[in-house]
Amino acid sequence: MGEDKLGGNLLEIQDVIVIGGGPVGLFGATMARLHGMTTTVIESLPELGGQLYALYPEKPIFDVAGFYGITGKDLALRLVEQADHFSPTFVVGQSVETIACIEATDGTYYEVVTSGGVHRARVLLVTVGIGAFVPRKLPAEGADQFENRGVFYLMPPLDYFRDKRVLVVGGGDTALDWTLAIAPRARHLTLIHRRNQFRGQEESIRLIHESPAISVKTPYELVRVAGRERIEAVVVKEAVSGEEETWPMDDVVGGLGFLPSLGPVKTWGLDLDGNTIVVDPATMMTTLPGVFAAGDVVQYPGKVKLIATGFGEIGIAIAQIRSYLDPTKKGLPHSTNLKGIPRP
Ligand SMILES: Cc1cc2nc3c(=O)[nH]c(=O)nc-3n(C[C@H](O)[C@H](O)[C@H](O)COP(=O)(O)OP(=O)(O)OC[C@H]3O[C@@H](n4cnc5c(N)ncnc54)[C@H](O)[C@@H]3O)c2cc1C
Repeated sequence: MGEDKLGGNLLEIQDVIVIGGGPVGLFGATMARLHGMTTTVIESLPELGGQLYALYPEKPIFDVAGFYGITGKDLALRLVEQADHFSPTFVVGQSVETIACIEATDGTYYEVVTSGGVHRARVLLVTVGIGAFVPRKLPAEGADQFENRGVFYLMPPLDYFRDKRVLVVGGGDTALDWTLAIAPRARHLTLIHRRNQFRGQEESIRLIHESPAISVKTPYELVRVAGRERIEAVVVKEAVSGEEETWPMDDVVGGLGFLPSLGPVKTWGLDLDGNTIVVDPATMMTTLPGVFAAGDVVQYPGKVKLIATGFGEIGIAIAQIRSYLDPTKKGLPHSTNLKGIPRP
């Protein structure tokens, strides 16, 4: 190994780099390793699991085959555990910034530059989902000042809220999910929304209205987050009368949703349709040779953004990647027939 032009390690060329460690990327790593490919997964967040872990860790999922009501966090942990059996390399906390196709004498490969180094692979599997999670910020005075120390947009461990007074702001599924997840731990939870109607799932709305641990206040807006070292109170405004009220509070959760932002992915030369990458659904290949994509980020006629669909796309992509790397290989053998797999 030597030094490359960016001062990083001159790494061996891997078979596959999976960009994005959400559920689809994690399953992609499992499948790539299962079928004998050297694989690195690069994830921009400090934790693997994508939307499951970052956006709805406590929410039960009912439409992933083989599980009834598994929470987002538990499914993420199971996917990591499954991938771990096959020992891919995980690089977390590094965002992929650029990709470049290098024509070398011994074949073409991609050079991937992250916020922390350089990686190389013959094939890229892009599973960046909805891209970086860019939360819609609370338009309230003082919210910036307390971000990540009282004002949250991504969920800290739920026990953080134990016995605290928590304000959740928002009217969609993000706000409703977090309300239901935090309420059992909090001393008291107040949910405010600037409209009278919530836009989330009816079951969540029903549970929230029935819960004695949750106060629902509509139409209310957050005006100011106040405190010195920590949050001490919030100032809210009744949206119709404009009358302001001050409520003692410990924490504020901004549940206004996330803005889709592919960020650097938009500069990689892929054929895009808005915030999605156009692929051929027969191969999951993008318009760049050797660059495949799967999961929420892809677009083709009939695409459905579900975990199950993403897993299916991985099956197609891995079969094609296997043939791309070695044209003598076709399709995918059943896992039950593979030799040398670590047994449970
Ligand atoms: C509240 C909510 C409830 C849901 N409920 C269900 C449900 O019940 N059933 C269901 O099937 N689906 C559900 N979904 C949808 C499901 O979560 C997505 O379909 C799934 O997460 C897509 O997985 P993915 O791996 O493609 O993308 P993601 O989960 O978005 O993961 C992509 C990962 O890529 C990373 N990344 C992005 N850009 C870069 C970069 N440049 N470099 C490195 N890493 C990068 C991100 O940080 C992220 O971790 C729900 C979604 C939400 C928000």
